Amino acid sequence: MQRDTKQRDAIRQVFHTHDAPLLPGEVLRLAQRAVPSLSLATVYRTLSAFARENLLRVVALPAEPPRYEKADKHHHHHFVCRQCQRVYEVHACAGDVQRMVPDGFQMDAHEITLYGVCADCALP
Ligand SMILES: [Zn+2]
Ligand SMILES: [Zn+2]
Repeated sequence: MQRDTKQRDAIRQVFHTHDAPLLPGEVLRLAQRAVPSLSLATVYRTLSAFARENLLRVVALPAEPPRYEKADKHHHHHFVCRQCQRVYEVHACAGDVQRMVPDGFQMDAHEITLYGVCADCALP
């Protein structure tokens, strides 16, 4: 029980300090700094539990394994670097996406994913 709480806290802490959608393997690596004995199975189990408790949200990008981010973030999109595969948050929106909706349709959400090369990878 005590050990469980420590693991949960370590995983939760990762999302407070890393403001990007994370893969379970990345969460494992970062949380192991606090709890070296942490296993990938525990990370998967805890991430699913956090998602059920609405602490985390699953970020499902096309052709990418699911990542997790904090559920209480405001509206944002993602940039996928084709070189390093990292996913960044983009705090901007396309503007009037409502214009794209055909007459008679009612939109309640939208997903926009940007692809390219991140600033780190673009350096010569
Ligand atoms: Zn990159
Ligand atoms: Zn948007």
